[in-house]
Amino acid sequence: MIYDRVLIRYGELSTKGRNRNVFVTKLKKNIKDIMKNEGNIQIQAGRDRMYLLLNDASYERIKEKLSNVFGIQSFSPVVRTEKNIEKVKEAALTLVKANFSPGNTFKINARRSDKTFEIDSQEMNSVLGAHILKNIDGIKVDVKHPDIELLVEVRKEGVFLSCEWVKGAGGLPAGVSGKAMLLLSGGIDSPVAGYMMMKRGVEIEAVHFFSPPYTSERAKQKVIDLAKKLTSFGGTIKLHIVPFTEIQQKIHETVPANYTMTSTRRFMLTIADEIRKKNGGLALVTGESLGQVASQTMESMLAINDVTSTPVLRPLIAMDKLEIIEISRKIGTHDISILPYEDCCTIFTPPSPKTKPKLERVEHYESFFDFEPYVREAVEKTETLLISEEFESKEFQDLF
Ligand code: ATP
Ligand code: MG
Repeated sequence: MIYDRVLIRYGELSTKGRNRNVFVTKLKKNIKDIMKNEGNIQIQAGRDRMYLLLNDASYERIKEKLSNVFGIQSFSPVVRTEKNIEKVKEAALTLVKANFSPGNTFKINARRSDKTFEIDSQEMNSVLGAHILKNIDGIKVDVKHPDIELLVEVRKEGVFLSCEWVKGAGGLPAGVSGKAMLLLSGGIDSPVAGYMMMKRGVEIEAVHFFSPPYTSERAKQKVIDLAKKLTSFGGTIKLHIVPFTEIQQKIHETVPANYTMTSTRRFMLTIADEIRKKNGGLALVTGESLGQVASQTMESMLAINDVTSTPVLRPLIAMDKLEIIEISRKIGTHDISILPYEDCCTIFTPPSPKTKPKLERVEHYESFFDFEPYVREAVEKTETLLISEEFESKEFQDLF
């Protein structure tokens, strides 16, 4: 391995003016978190670049993890040399040689951000190009579609060379935008919604409504596994598991069948909002997409959303199911989401939920029973798990 460090470019961050320090500090912390098991990596954070000094760590593993970190526009493994043209020539040759196979073409792409260095980028291109042509048999230049593109950047702190450029995840570093509570079901949509908010710098805590014995330990494990997948985009996630059985039963007894769905969603939102207050969150996030099912019409949202004035963020609202599925595949949650274990809502779903519920109606129905103590109890009995990459995954044995 020739490369001794990784150069990270921030992109969007650089446009954030005064907030830049906050962003860079957060990005550095997130990278440190994600790399904590990868050996002795040092991080040097500057205003518009960050360097990871690899020491003994494996670049391949770091590359995989780094591609998921929000707030990174692109990165390259690099070697650093002194600002001495002989040293640069030597490093350039070593790098191109290491990447060369017979028949390959190349191009030098030099940039000089340190204008005090006596050789400008044009001259650098030709000096290095000539050196490589002279020393590697059969190599040719192709400026349009080279097989090998050697990036050379002259900066105040040295000259950096690389033959690799990796696109980053973009977005903003997780946590810079504050915290929100994600209503996480076992379905396809809500993990994608969580991912999209994380991409905009939101720290996510997940809230899951669990209705034993109607829903099994497996269904709960599925949600844990989904939360675990999301940790690769922002580090550890708190998962709040709310015991929801009693409330669902009371709704069932109190509210007419075609309004139970509306009412169930209202209590989910109410409880999630209580958990938000206790944990310093600023918003709620759901995986709703307009028109997808009965509870996701605008009439439904109006009747459901009435229980709180807290912002409810719905990043998937205007997306098609196919687009959502595509993202779920990309982020690795799809195959967990499609496992067949029952969800607390599907079990109590009436045959024909109202697609256009009326707020006054649902309020009227709910007024026949005092749900308040049940809401309080659900919040009190909520179990909180700290999900990280190492969180144990249970294997279930099939009995039959
Ligand atoms: P998903 O694929 O996320 O389950 P969905 O298309 O199945 O979404 P619904 O079942 O109507 O839609 O749920 C709408 C949203 O309500 C979900 O995206 C999720 O944010 C929230 N939600 C539903 N069930 C639960 C649950 N058991 N625990 C937590 N949140 C839930
Ligand atoms: Mg669902």
